[in-house]
Amino acid sequence: MRFLPEEVWTCMKRHMMLLFTIFLCSFLPACASGRPHSRDTYAMDTVMRLTAYGDKGEEALDGGIDTIARMEALLSTTREDSEIYRINASGFGDVSETTADILSRTLHYADFLGGDFRPDLYEMTALWGFTGEQYRVPSEEEIEEVRNHVSGGSVSLEERKVTLSGVKLDLGAAAKGYTAQTVIDSWRKLGIHSGIISLGGNVQTLGLKPDGTLWRVGIVDPEDTNRTLCVLSVGEAAIVTSGGYQRFFEKDGVRYGHIMDPVTGTPASSDVSSVTVVSSDGLFADCCSTALYVKGFDAAVSFWREKGGFEMVLVDHEGRVYVTDGLSGSVSGCPFEVLAP
Ligand code: AMP
Ligand code: MG
Repeated sequence: MRFLPEEVWTCMKRHMMLLFTIFLCSFLPACASGRPHSRDTYAMDTVMRLTAYGDKGEEALDGGIDTIARMEALLSTTREDSEIYRINASGFGDVSETTADILSRTLHYADFLGGDFRPDLYEMTALWGFTGEQYRVPSEEEIEEVRNHVSGGSVSLEERKVTLSGVKLDLGAAAKGYTAQTVIDSWRKLGIHSGIISLGGNVQTLGLKPDGTLWRVGIVDPEDTNRTLCVLSVGEAAIVTSGGYQRFFEKDGVRYGHIMDPVTGTPASSDVSSVTVVSSDGLFADCCSTALYVKGFDAAVSFWREKGGFEMVLVDHEGRVYVTDGLSGSVSGCPFEVLAP
């Protein structure tokens, strides 16, 4: 027996269903449309984790994993079938649209960032054994020879034609940032509203968390990589960390990190132990964090003051944390000093 007209009853049922769904969603970690889908993979010498929320999550993960594999196949310096390997071996040749795109944008950022960032210093990283993981301390003569190649060399790119003069390419400081940005862009096109990927030191987010709150991204303690030094609360952004602690070897009590100073031809002896750049662009954040690590504290702060357009967190060798003013409300879990513009 019903006391209400059919249409009112139907409308009430609809409202009750909606209320019930909202009620459920507020108690479950994520409601059906915001269910997390996660996958881990190992590529580009690092462990990666991708998480996409929503009904198309699995499709997003499949696409993301494919993109990572495709980028590694194009950009690896050690895989003999990669485009970069082929160009390094012959000194010239045509590349795919994707490789031309990352190369042209990386060369542009190299200009912008000054001589601290060189995507063509393969011979330096190889000399110290970072490419094949056969670490060694080279002689002064070897360092000098490679240093001359790099300082006098150049890369030219015309449409898809690459010509190397006296140098070889190493896109290790840019590949993960470019890949992360490509994955996030493809997820956005697919209709994903919420996602996060972590490719080693490169974290990039899409939208906000499904519950509308900010993402919490930990900054690793360079002195103890099992610890999180502090946490950044961010919306949609690329958060990229560079530091010598991420890959290094030790010889006779000296630590040699994988980020090179192109001017000296030796691993950068930076006075910061890590630089985290927060930017809207994954590739820029990746190139910039590497360059600022080489620049060191004072030059990194001057660069930020002069150019702006990004935020950063610097950690020095005493574990002190410095944060640009745009992030001052976003850091938690550690004491920090704010860098004024
Ligand atoms: P990242 O982890 O992004 O800071 O990049 C470090 C990687 O980039 C190294 O493992 C090298 O392959 C390469 N690299 C090292 N030093 C430089 C540099 N000064 N400029 C550009 N790439 C570099
Ligand atoms: Mg980088």
